[in-house]
Amino acid sequence: IIPPFLPLAAYSPFDHAWPWSSFAVACTSCSGRQSGEGSVAGAFHFILYGLYSRLSHFADRRHLCVLPLVWAKKVGRKFCTAVAVTMGLGPSMATEVAAALTNRRASVVYLHCAECTGCSEALLRTCKPFLDTLILDTISLDYHETIMAAAGEAAEAALEQAISNPEGFICVVEGAIPMALDGKYGYVGGHTMLDLCKRVLPKAKAVVTMGTCAAYGGVQAAKPNPTGAVGVNDCFAKLGMDVKAINIPGCPPNPLNLVGTLVAFLQNKEIKLDDQGRPLMFYGQSVHDLCERRAHFDAGEFAPSFDSEEARKGWCLYDLGCKGPGAYCDSFERKWNGVNWCVANAICIGCTEPTFPYGQ
Ligand code: SF4
Repeated sequence: IIPPFLPLAAYSPFDHAWPWSSFAVACTSCSGRQSGEGSVAGAFHFILYGLYSRLSHFADRRHLCVLPLVWAKKVGRKFCTAVAVTMGLGPSMATEVAAALTNRRASVVYLHCAECTGCSEALLRTCKPFLDTLILDTISLDYHETIMAAAGEAAEAALEQAISNPEGFICVVEGAIPMALDGKYGYVGGHTMLDLCKRVLPKAKAVVTMGTCAAYGGVQAAKPNPTGAVGVNDCFAKLGMDVKAINIPGCPPNPLNLVGTLVAFLQNKEIKLDDQGRPLMFYGQSVHDLCERRAHFDAGEFAPSFDSEEARKGWCLYDLGCKGPGAYCDSFERKWNGVNWCVANAICIGCTEPTFPYGQ
């Protein structure tokens, strides 16, 4: 199917950049899930994204990864059910979640500060929801420096347009904010990350940190921290500005926790936070309380090594350094892409805590 369409999809006399570049970025941004597996759906994605991409540039519109709507609708119900369950609402509330999402696709501006992009990587590879569902059915991701096809002035214009949206926007921040030397340790598009945050965050309807670096400084604030990196709330407290972010920590966090928070916001639900700014619906219980190895902890059965028979039998990993008793998140319940979680094969390193990584 592809060959007759491909030249058309790739051709654009209006592109500022090499025509193939945004095409390639886009296909990477869906993790090759649909474009690289030789399926019929993949072929359609490949073709339709390319066509849309060209048309978007023609109309000078912003876009990110856009896949066939028919594909997104196919997984939409599953996604809403997953989000409803994540929020503790139960599968029967999927319709309510769907209504909240369909009626108001919130504009989201996603900023990158000092980070490794692992949180975006987690987001890109999530299957609950798939990224296309997230972008098409849930939010309008109007600016994301890693996956957006636009670059240079077009990207700057996209940001300006998004933050001028009269209906407002939600700002998601990934990465810590370097504050030393007036922010000169971190630039995006010629602006310091500090200045970008000062310009964008106070205008947002809500600010959500994605990952421990944005929440508390995390790895970016590792000693001796010459860049003066801090989390968003600490940064704005130091600046004396009234910005209070909801924290979704984790290294990286489960994307469902971000999506669930956005859904709760769209539904005007009260988002109860713990004393670290984390939504209690996701971070209300410790890893230890939820752990599948907990019975062995209570029985005093501790594995002597990772490759021991005891570890394979599910004995507790506390003696091997597990930080589950002091770490709060729903990793066991949520699992990664519904399949696995940290303590199944390794220890909890407490990555959702403000003390990370030094608390280890
Ligand atoms: Fe707790 Fe870790 Fe042992 Fe699980 S493995 S019971 S989280 S100490």
